[in-house]
Amino acid sequence: MHDCVIIGGGPAGLTSAIYLARFHLDILLFDNGSSRAALIPCTHNHAGFPGGISGKDLLGRMSEQAASFGVRRHHAHVTGIEPQEDTFLVRTSDMEVQARTVLLATGVVNNRPDMDDALHDRALEQGLLRYCPICDGYEVTDKRIGVIGTGSHGMREALFLRGYSRDITLIAPDAEHMLDEECAAALDTAGIARVDGPCGGFAIEDGQFAMDSAAGRLRFDSVYPALGSKIRSELALAAGARGTDDGCIVTDEHQRTTLPGLYAAGDVVRGLDQISHAMGQAGVAATTIRNELSERRALRR
Ligand SMILES: Cc1cc2nc3c(=O)[nH]c(=O)nc-3n(C[C@H](O)[C@H](O)[C@H](O)COP(=O)(O)OP(=O)(O)OC[C@H]3O[C@@H](n4cnc5c(N)ncnc54)[C@H](O)[C@@H]3O)c2cc1C
Repeated sequence: MHDCVIIGGGPAGLTSAIYLARFHLDILLFDNGSSRAALIPCTHNHAGFPGGISGKDLLGRMSEQAASFGVRRHHAHVTGIEPQEDTFLVRTSDMEVQARTVLLATGVVNNRPDMDDALHDRALEQGLLRYCPICDGYEVTDKRIGVIGTGSHGMREALFLRGYSRDITLIAPDAEHMLDEECAAALDTAGIARVDGPCGGFAIEDGQFAMDSAAGRLRFDSVYPALGSKIRSELALAAGARGTDDGCIVTDEHQRTTLPGLYAAGDVVRGLDQISHAMGQAGVAATTIRNELSERRALRR
C-alpha cells in the first residue's frame, strides 16, 4: 500500500514526487515516456536558466533530484484507476498496486498537422515548427509566421502572435476557413492575412517551413499549428472524477478532483499549460496530499 501513486513523469509529476518524497511518504511514479516537455528544444522563459535549457535536460535534472530522495519510478502505461473504499487500485498492463491517494499528472498531446515524424521532429528542433506562442513567441519577433488553424481558436493564436510580428498568415487546415463575421473582422483589423487550405506538402525548404495552400506554395520562418490538443484525462474521468466541457480535470484550489483521494496537476488541469504552472500546481497537490494523509493517520517519525 503506497501513500501516493503518481501517474506522469513530466514537470508536474516529478515536482510532486520530489515534494512527497521529502515529506517521508511512500510513493511510486509511473510514466510512459511521452512528456510534452521532452519536445522543447530550448526553453527561454523558464526562470532560473539564463541561456535556456532543453526540455530533456530539465526533465533529466528533475529525475535525478527525485531519485536522490529515493523516488521509485516505473516505465509503464497506466490503464486504469479503480476507487475502492478509501484507497485506489492502479493498473498497468502487467501489475496492480494499491495506494491511499493518486496524483494524475498525465498532461496533454498537441494535435499535429499530417506529416511524417522525422520531418516533424526536425522542424521542431530547428524552431520552424512551434506549438506554444506564450513560450517562444519572443523568439519569432518580426519573423514571417504562419498559423495553421481556423475558427476562434485559430484567430486567438494568430492575434496573440500579432504582438510579436506584423507578418502573420492564418492558413485553413482544410479547404476553407470557418470564421464568423466577428473573427474575420478581428483578423482584418489586426492586419492578419487569411489563406484557404487544404494545407499539405509540408517540407523544409531553404531554411523555411513550406506548405501548399489554395494560394499556392507558402514559406514561413516559423509555423504554429493551432489544432487543439488531446487532454489525457481519461483515467480520472473513467474513475468518476468530473471533467470540464473541453475534457480537462476539474479541481479545487488545492488540486483535489471531485473524487476524494484523487488529485490532478499540470496541463491535464485547465490552466496556463506552462512548466511553471505545472510545477506550482504539483507543489500545492503534494502538500495537500501530505496534510490529508496526516489527518487520516497522524504522520509521525
Ligand atoms: C514544443 C513545445 C515547447 C514548449 N515550450 C515551453 C516553454 O518554453 N516553457 C514552458 O513553460 N512550457 C513549454 N511547453 C509546455 C510544457 O511542455 C508543458 O506545459 C509541460 O510539459 C506540462 O507538464 P505536465 O507534467 O503537466 O505534462 P507532461 O510534461 O506532458 O507530462 C505528462 C507525463 O505523463 C505521462 N503519462 C501520460 N499518460 C500516462 C499513462 N496513462 N500512464 C503513464 N504515464 C502517462 C507521459 O509519459 C508524460 O511524461 C512547451 C510545449 C511544447 C509541445
